[in-house]
Amino acid sequence: MEKDRQGTMTYRKPQYGYGHRHGMEQIQFANAEDKQEFQKYPTKAGRRSLSRSISQSSTDSYSSAASYSDSSDDETSPRDKAQANSKGSSDFCVKNVKQAEFGRREIEIAEQDMSALISLRKRAQAEKPLAGAKIVGCTHITAQTAVLIETLVALGAQCRWTACNIYSTQNEVAAALAETGVPVFAWKGESEDDFWWCIDRCVNKEGWQANMILDDGGDLTHWVYKKYPSVFKKAQGIVEESVTGVHRLYQLSKAGKLCVPAMNVNDSVTKQKFDNLYCCRESILDGLKRTTDVMFGGKQVVVCGYGEVGKGCCSALKAMGAIVCITEIDPICALQGCMDGFRVVKLNEVIRQMDIVITCTGNKNVVTREQLDRIKNGCIVCNMGHSNTEIDVASLRSPELTWERVRSQVDHVIWPDGKRVILLAEGRLLNLSCSTVPTFVLSITATTQALALIELFNAPEGRYKQDVYLLPKKMDEYVASLHMPNFDAHLTELSDEQAKYMGLNKNGPFKPNYYRY
Ligand code: NAD
Repeated sequence: MEKDRQGTMTYRKPQYGYGHRHGMEQIQFANAEDKQEFQKYPTKAGRRSLSRSISQSSTDSYSSAASYSDSSDDETSPRDKAQANSKGSSDFCVKNVKQAEFGRREIEIAEQDMSALISLRKRAQAEKPLAGAKIVGCTHITAQTAVLIETLVALGAQCRWTACNIYSTQNEVAAALAETGVPVFAWKGESEDDFWWCIDRCVNKEGWQANMILDDGGDLTHWVYKKYPSVFKKAQGIVEESVTGVHRLYQLSKAGKLCVPAMNVNDSVTKQKFDNLYCCRESILDGLKRTTDVMFGGKQVVVCGYGEVGKGCCSALKAMGAIVCITEIDPICALQGCMDGFRVVKLNEVIRQMDIVITCTGNKNVVTREQLDRIKNGCIVCNMGHSNTEIDVASLRSPELTWERVRSQVDHVIWPDGKRVILLAEGRLLNLSCSTVPTFVLSITATTQALALIELFNAPEGRYKQDVYLLPKKMDEYVASLHMPNFDAHLTELSDEQAKYMGLNKNGPFKPNYYRY
């Protein structure tokens, strides 16, 4: 959604291919080695700039695709502009601080579905559990993140923020944050150089030293680790949200180079369940509708993979009246599919009849060129899994096939006999490329991040060593409990007798760590 100049909400697909202006100021490296190190480093920004889209290449974390478009056509790099907020501070770098009012309205909309964070603010405001915390953050800068940042500030933290992605910043939201005094260094359409410049400006502030890191992708952590080792050593904790970032932390830990406790929020139960199952349940329909206007009732659909993502997709499509079958390699998931009322088939045997083919396996070459050759005219083919190799899209780039771009993210691939296959997002994740992620899902992740920061910042010495930890189960449960009021949901309390019988503490945790939900 975006606001036009009158403030009316209208939907507009995210726009990419932003014109870059490289700023004059270049990042200063301590030595040539450092510079080389960064040039070979596979940054998220780099990967994404290659793919020309925020979401097409990122599967680690999500951003809302909403954005207010600044119609002033001002191509001046924010790095070349002198700006100050209404209090006279110029410790920020955003596209246009005058957009703050629009950004504030976006933040207010997000707040409505992020009541857990608002209630955390209320519950902990007096206590100020983050007083003294100096947090540097590197995440998507969206209205939902702004609600998180403002919560951290309300709980006593000082925050400086930068974007983990060169395309996903909502400029007006960055402006609103800068206007309230949060130093933000981010704009939509940064160059690779801008990206690192912003990270550096975020960390490198005279007279101010970060003691906590909140990261999404590991770029900020890596920057601090390499360029500001003394800051890294003295930090009290790192909270990491993405698969990639968590992987890097484990690598550091394995190499004995992690000198700070780190929290892996990516693998907390609430995040996994909501991102994979419930988010995909909602966004599969959204992604298909926005790109193709397809009617689901009576359509023959095959979903490859019946894990969390597949289960979400199947349940939404079935509810819309589609006739859904699944493919699986794992008998347990296949049996679950049978119990849920889906026919378990081999793709080869059904491919000719299908109207929609969806992959969600995390595997490669799940739909092969040979199968694509046999697909029927008009079939929609798309992917919901991590990698864009689930469908063998590369094999479709051959001279005998014609590609026709019919809409943003929609291609017709045309066979010599006139058969057309409708390929969405070139085989990249459909929902992240073509729809938005519900604010409520982001609320759960943001609440988890806030609690992880509070936990690490307040943990007594010795509770966490220099290693990577999962959020304690009790906190996972607390994140969920903060979302109960959204639904007027009321939990049953254990009686003393029941607690004793079950061997549980009345206040949780209610499940052992190995419980699978
Ligand atoms: P999962 O492991 O729970 O499920 C994947 C399923 O695919 C498994 O049951 C596996 O047995 C099955 N499978 C593997 N190879 C197969 C094949 N060749 N044919 C048929 N089935 C096969 O994983 P998940 O949580 O459902 O995630 C699936 C993918 O979606 C991952 O790549 C994940 O990163 C990605 N993901 C996407 C989103 C999104 O928003 N689109 C969100 C979370 C995760």
